[in-house]
Amino acid sequence: MAAIRRELPDLKLLTDELDREAYRLDEAAYLDAGIGLPAAVALPTSTAEVATLLRLASAHGIAVVPRGAGTGLSGGAAGIDGALTIALTRMDRILEIDQANLCVVAQPGVINAALKAAVAAAGLFYPPDPASYETCSIGGNLGTNAGGLCCVKYGQTRDWVLGLEVVLADGRVIRTGGRNVKDTAGYALTQLFVGSQGTLGIITEATLRLRPQPGPRSTLLAFFPSVEAAGDAVAAMTRSGLEPVTLELMDHATILAVDDWHHLGLDRDAAAMLMVESDAPGAQATAELDAAEQACTEAGASSLVRAADAAEADWLREARRQALRALERLGTVRMEDVGVPRAAVPQLLRAIERIAAANGVRSATFGHVGDGNLHPNFIFDRDDHAAAALTERVRDEIFREALALGGTVTAEHGIGIARRAWLPIQRGEDGVAVMRSIKAALDPLGILNPGRVV
Ligand SMILES: Cc1cc2nc3c(=O)[nH]c(=O)nc-3n(C[C@H](O)[C@H](O)[C@H](O)COP(=O)(O)OP(=O)(O)OC[C@H]3O[C@@H](n4cnc5c(N)ncnc54)[C@H](O)[C@@H]3O)c2cc1C
Repeated sequence: MAAIRRELPDLKLLTDELDREAYRLDEAAYLDAGIGLPAAVALPTSTAEVATLLRLASAHGIAVVPRGAGTGLSGGAAGIDGALTIALTRMDRILEIDQANLCVVAQPGVINAALKAAVAAAGLFYPPDPASYETCSIGGNLGTNAGGLCCVKYGQTRDWVLGLEVVLADGRVIRTGGRNVKDTAGYALTQLFVGSQGTLGIITEATLRLRPQPGPRSTLLAFFPSVEAAGDAVAAMTRSGLEPVTLELMDHATILAVDDWHHLGLDRDAAAMLMVESDAPGAQATAELDAAEQACTEAGASSLVRAADAAEADWLREARRQALRALERLGTVRMEDVGVPRAAVPQLLRAIERIAAANGVRSATFGHVGDGNLHPNFIFDRDDHAAAALTERVRDEIFREALALGGTVTAEHGIGIARRAWLPIQRGEDGVAVMRSIKAALDPLGILNPGRVV
């Protein structure tokens, strides 16, 4: 710390225990193993400061945890005992909105919603839309390759990145990509850093693609007597090539939790609800929702409701975004993030219900079902160690089912600490060995977020 204070006298460096405690966890608050109290937390305001910090950390063999807003759900930004956490929250400037090239250049600490609002003021649209968009940062979105509520049409964060500025473990600064739409010069480093959860470098600037702002959204809610019927409707929509901007699912327990909190008048008897949104222009939106409605009816929907106007559609989407917070009113929530090829959604939904019921675990499932991505949540009492251990076993069973269906143990939240044991099971030892070689090439001393991902 003395070297940091000497070289960067103006840097905000938190060393008080109370301040550092705030950086012990991210939102995977149920985790115990692999997390700790950072020795210090640095809040740099420039790339040069980040570079100096990493040069010093390398020279002194100090582990570094890159951190955005700390909303991650895999323990990726959680503290490590004796390590330096570098929180990028003060690097929060939008540097340029380039209307001619449909891109924006931003620092990592910009909050996703702030970026969306700034480009919207210029008539432009940045699609990546995690449910946490009002609190999570662009740096964290890049670190996790965040998904969200519109991937079914617009893809994940990685699909919207043109270039990055990255500080390497030894303090060197590189630029990947740029403003070119097409660029095949060398390896795809931009895509490699996105989703690497702070284990390969610290992103200090990003050039992100934009598109013209679409029109207001139209929304359809469909209620079903079983989760399988909802899954069948999703499979039918996928087969027919429908690409709504949002295709989200909430199961019975989630419907009750959200409705108890927000009093939306949802069908509380339904086993599942689908939220389908279209941002297609004019009559195309009606046609898209008509086709979705037909798929839902044929799959056995018990009722269908369309939002009266854009304000009601916004309100319904906001309620879906609050699903995790609604469940947190019931106890400690362990949120998982499995994904399967979309045709296998009905089987995955059935498996989650069966496994949770067989083990007597209180569960609630919602998620981005149009992408094949579901979030089974287990609700338990944090002080009940047996209950916590049970959620781990149930989770493992669900992971096995997802992998057997050709799926993934994490579709958008990342491996972090929480799912590390499953990486070789999903990718194979040789696949993980390749990842380790990349890690060793970029971070030979292993100081960047050690114990996370690989
Ligand atoms: C209520 C709620 C809803 C959520 N909904 C979604 C959702 O719909 N979709 C989704 O994908 N996620 C969702 N999340 C999870 C979380 O918000 C995302 O993972 C988000 O991208 C994390 O951003 P952050 O700024 O909080 O990053 P952090 O949690 O601080 O960090 C996340 C990871 O990125 C790394 N990192 C952070 N900044 C940098 C940087 N500058 N350079 C390199 N690495 C960096 C960290 O080391 C860490 O591994 C949700 C979380 C909550 C609490």
